[in-house]
Amino acid sequence: MDYLRWGLLPLLVPLIASFFLFYIKNSTKPSQSECSLFPHDHYWISSKRIVTSDGTISGAVEIQGGNIISVVEEGDWQGNIRRGQVIDYGEAVVMPGLIDVHAHLDDPGRAEWEGFPSGTRAAAAGGITTLIDMPLNSFPSTVSVEAFKLKIEAAEQRIYIDVGFWGGLVPENAFNASALESILEAGVLGLKSFMCPSGINDFPMTNASHIKEGLSILAKYKRPLLVHAEIQQELEGYLELKDGADDARSYSTYLKTRPASWEEAAIRELLTVTKDTRTGGHAEGAHLHIVHLSDARSSLDLIKEAKSGGDSVTVETCPHYLAFSAEEIQDGDTRFKCAPPIRDAANRAKLWEALMDGHIDMLSSDHSPTVPELKLLDDGNFLKAWGGISSLQFVLPVTWSYGRKYGITLQQLASWWSEKPAILAGLDLKGAIAIGNHADIVVWKPEEELDINDKLPIHLKHPSISAYLGSRLSGKVLATFVRGNLVYKEGRHAPAACGVPILAR
Ligand SMILES: [Zn+2]
Repeated sequence: MDYLRWGLLPLLVPLIASFFLFYIKNSTKPSQSECSLFPHDHYWISSKRIVTSDGTISGAVEIQGGNIISVVEEGDWQGNIRRGQVIDYGEAVVMPGLIDVHAHLDDPGRAEWEGFPSGTRAAAAGGITTLIDMPLNSFPSTVSVEAFKLKIEAAEQRIYIDVGFWGGLVPENAFNASALESILEAGVLGLKSFMCPSGINDFPMTNASHIKEGLSILAKYKRPLLVHAEIQQELEGYLELKDGADDARSYSTYLKTRPASWEEAAIRELLTVTKDTRTGGHAEGAHLHIVHLSDARSSLDLIKEAKSGGDSVTVETCPHYLAFSAEEIQDGDTRFKCAPPIRDAANRAKLWEALMDGHIDMLSSDHSPTVPELKLLDDGNFLKAWGGISSLQFVLPVTWSYGRKYGITLQQLASWWSEKPAILAGLDLKGAIAIGNHADIVVWKPEEELDINDKLPIHLKHPSISAYLGSRLSGKVLATFVRGNLVYKEGRHAPAACGVPILAR
């Protein structure tokens, strides 16, 4: 008997230990009052301007258990159904929370560049309720199941909004179906690849044959491939560039090193494989999404052609391409360096036109911060500085401020920033204020002006590298709700990080 009893001990020890670990883990789960600045399970949000898929209404949204359970118009709302807690936002706009499908949070491995806590707090302050983290700029890059596990661990209890993840398609895994399948099984929402050097050593570039392979695997999962579309070409008749040369401080020098023909070449090549995504094609079910389009001329024409031919293709652009123009960028001001580059004002107007006409499907931040030292702000060398624009917390006022002269509507904002991104990322319960959806909501005042300076409490890290410093924008975010939790309210965040990692099933 004794022998048996002691023999069981080695089995019991891990069992007891795991029970305690389970207990500790669950007892540290934050309470609702830590997750939300308005800790009620059942309440209403009312406003004169609620943006739903069927139009903008005056009325109220009922929230219970983190979901939207009813949306009612003013007349019905004034009846006897009003019960429970109410937050009345008056004339402020109540819109679906923004979904940013393109952000680099650099965690784990380069959290000093950004990190999950600061990046998701800044996002919450900007009305972003979900973001999809890119597989690179963190270390290791998310190109294997092992790296993906590290990513999820790093996100655990450190994210203030919901976060999904793209995996990486790189030469090392592109022809290895089981490697790609295992990362997709583990829950990445799709894959991302580069057609030019990414600037990150463990994220090498792919060519059309890698992309073709990737699409055939993605077809089975009905998930998208996102592609950075630039291919390096000979720089025709261009002067030899020396890193130390004086003209390295000039923006026009940088612009010449990444001409629109690079985007065009990449897109032309991509479209030779996207034919497979047509109905009846070899990769039917897969989808190709071109990230951060900057060239609104021939590249865009090619995309339009592919769409009309039935290819499953979408394209995004970013607020910085819609706000800035090459003519305005001062020499040495490397805050504006990104790839593909910001082009001339005429191109910017064409981007707006394409967005308004629906040829550009959606917007994303391409938030890509780094430490200020790597931006070389003092030196101002455009050829050596880190490329990437940061400031995801301003994407809503930037889009609104620069879009007003083109006559953009609240409905279009919700489509570009919520509905279309939700479809791309396969987020069924997000992207619209509708019954049954997650209560992911931004409340903002389009008319209120905002001076962007480094004292703003919504600058969470490295304000000096923000390209928007010194600008005056229209549109102030008052409140952000994620699954019913009021995570941000006028400069304050809920104390606990209650965002949820989103894994594809
Ligand atoms: Zn990016």
